[in-house]
Amino acid sequence: MIGRIHSIETMGMLDGPGIRTIFFLQGCPLRCIYCHNPDSQRYDSGQQMTAEQIVAMALKYKEYYDASGGGVTFSGGEPLVQGPFLIKAMKGLKASGIHIALDTSGYGQVESYEQVLALADMILLDVKHFDEQHHRKMIGVSMKGLDIFLKKLKKFKGRLWVRHVMVPGYTDNAYSVDQLFERIKPVAHKVEKIEILPFHQLGIDKYRELGLDYKLKETPEMDADIARGFEIYINQKLKNYIAQRVGDEHYFLSQAPNEVCSM
Ligand code: SF4
Repeated sequence: MIGRIHSIETMGMLDGPGIRTIFFLQGCPLRCIYCHNPDSQRYDSGQQMTAEQIVAMALKYKEYYDASGGGVTFSGGEPLVQGPFLIKAMKGLKASGIHIALDTSGYGQVESYEQVLALADMILLDVKHFDEQHHRKMIGVSMKGLDIFLKKLKKFKGRLWVRHVMVPGYTDNAYSVDQLFERIKPVAHKVEKIEILPFHQLGIDKYRELGLDYKLKETPEMDADIARGFEIYINQKLKNYIAQRVGDEHYFLSQAPNEVCSM
């Protein structure tokens, strides 16, 4: 089985814990207006590799993963659009004892989700927007795909991080951050942390090279300190939510026997 790989990064430190090899899979059904890798969107390009080649390459760096708590991350493009290939590569990595993270927007081949989620140790879920209309405008598709993936994620047993690219003039305000939190509420109790990634202009040359219209060419880069402030805010919100939820569960558990007795 052949997969299409946009690019590979060895010694990655940003997409999951520890030192990681990142396989960026080719092809994406989304059209984020801030995408800095528009060349990863089309399905018919990229380097062709087998799942065995992925595993063999990852194994070369295993001592780094083991020493740092790292592993392999599949990113994109959107890795879920190559479901069967992804599953095969994940099975090979799993058999080799390599930690697997999946950096996804939650859009792909739905029939592969259960197997992928059973094999993944960690999901980095990119949530693009909270509002259907704006999602269609900024991302090019409906939010229904995300909702389907969130439903499947409810049964996920591994670690979960949420990520969100903050764009000045679009989502850099408390209302957007609050709404983003509401969107992820169905799985919020599983979320370890939320990363707010500041929008940058690093992809601008690629649009020029590909002859594509870049809608955000006049948009300033997101101030990293302001993004960090929103990140602290939403993570505190997450903490409070989880503490309250745990408190509610304790309350319920401590009340339940009495309720049973009084019947
Ligand atoms: S999901 Fe990623 S690769 Fe796909 S369009 Fe958005 S930013 Fe680009």
